[in-house]
Amino acid sequence: MAVSGDEGRIHIVGAGLAGLSAAVRLAAQGRAVTLYEAAAQAGGRCRSFHDARLDCLIDNGNHLMMTANTAVLDYLDLLQAGDALTGPAQAAFPFLDLESGQRWTLKPSAGRIPWWVLSRKHRVPGTRITSYLKGLRLAFAGADARIGDCLDTNDPLWRRFWEPLIVAVLNTPAEEGSARLLWQVLRLTFARGEAACRPLVARHGLGPALVDPALAILADRGAEVRFNQRLRRIDFTGERAVQLDFAGQAVALGSADQVILALPPQAAEGLLPGLDAPRESHAIVNAHIRLPQAPDWPFERDKVERGQIGGGQEVPFMGLLGGTADWLFLRGSVVSLTVSAATALAQRPNDEIAAALWSDTARALGLDPSLNPPIRVINEKRATFAQTPAALRRRPAPRSAWRNLFLAGDWTATGLPATIESAVRSGEAAAKALTLP
Ligand SMILES: Cc1cc2nc3c(=O)[nH]c(=O)nc-3n(C[C@H](O)[C@H](O)[C@H](O)COP(=O)(O)OP(=O)(O)OC[C@H]3O[C@@H](n4cnc5c(N)ncnc54)[C@H](O)[C@@H]3O)c2cc1C
Repeated sequence: MAVSGDEGRIHIVGAGLAGLSAAVRLAAQGRAVTLYEAAAQAGGRCRSFHDARLDCLIDNGNHLMMTANTAVLDYLDLLQAGDALTGPAQAAFPFLDLESGQRWTLKPSAGRIPWWVLSRKHRVPGTRITSYLKGLRLAFAGADARIGDCLDTNDPLWRRFWEPLIVAVLNTPAEEGSARLLWQVLRLTFARGEAACRPLVARHGLGPALVDPALAILADRGAEVRFNQRLRRIDFTGERAVQLDFAGQAVALGSADQVILALPPQAAEGLLPGLDAPRESHAIVNAHIRLPQAPDWPFERDKVERGQIGGGQEVPFMGLLGGTADWLFLRGSVVSLTVSAATALAQRPNDEIAAALWSDTARALGLDPSLNPPIRVINEKRATFAQTPAALRRRPAPRSAWRNLFLAGDWTATGLPATIESAVRSGEAAAKALTLP
């Protein structure tokens, strides 16, 4: 494709999903794009790599998306990778309480009215309808309200529904999270009915689904992608950025050139004078365990999976309570566990984390605890920013104080939690802002 040089080059720094989303959109419009990335690979906090210990491709962490994530689905369409995600044909979230052994499956209702909360059979065990009604308090939460101010943390619904949901969505200790942000998530998912709540995961991993097709499209459209390029400094003159300094290698910006910084908040704050980004972050810990063979799945797969894409749920998962892990996913013989808001756990040595998560796995899947399978622990210490009311006030818009410099990243003001959907939307918003006068 012919690339127009008259409009200036667009320099995108950071090849996570925010940077990739901006780059593919702008390259599709025929703009000249250069994408710079500090690491040797793209994907940032959402990446796959070959792990020598397990001898297979693994993701840095389990990433769950939903059918409500329309920006992700549009991005995949743009990449012609519409079948890269997989999930059940109907929304279903199986849970297992490791302490009591109790199991249940949460199935949102088809329409906008959550009929499931009216039926004891469909409600979370041990919960009453009044507990769910109290959730409506979130709708009236002010900008400063924490979730703990709105919901009853002693109610059984807290431990069995609210806490796992909030920690998964906001990666923040549940009481501290922003009530308003949680309400926004509920409006976009449960309040729209089952079809918006279907879980989606990358069929063959995050890289093959969300990153590799973007790099292929960028190559096809003549965009430059430069790895191992860490931006150290930006020089400004008046209202414009005039030079990018990549560890001694200077890139002078032409008068029509524009820049998108698609970096994590800490990196952006270090480069942009006066930027007041969200500072506190929380860890997510993942462990991948390679079993000698694929284990039996303890939930009734045939019921949950009837009519699913590809004839069956390729990557079944369950929520866990009463142990260390929050979620357990299964890909063939590889079990992957996630612990969110894991800042305390992340301080512990990896072998202790591995032992705790193996214990959960053996209990959840009914395996011999003395098996000694290879385990890889991945500790993402700054997985997302802490999504508290105070931090949300610090999310910046895509336009910066400099006329040719724009911001993207899951932490910018997308109105969504720091997720893939937010990152993709932020890239889209920066690409749009840059083309407006
Ligand atoms: C373990 C884990 C589990 C998660 N689970 C989920 C989930 O289930 N569902 C979901 O939707 N989201 C999940 N997320 C969040 C999701 O991964 C992020 O929201 C998203 O990937 C952020 O993308 P980004 O482009 O904004 O930032 P990043 O991915 O951080 O991209 C920024 C890029 O900038 C590069 N960079 C940094 N500094 C410089 C510099 N100075 N110069 C050049 N390049 C630089 C980095 O190397 C990186 O590649 C999870 C995150 C983690 C870590």
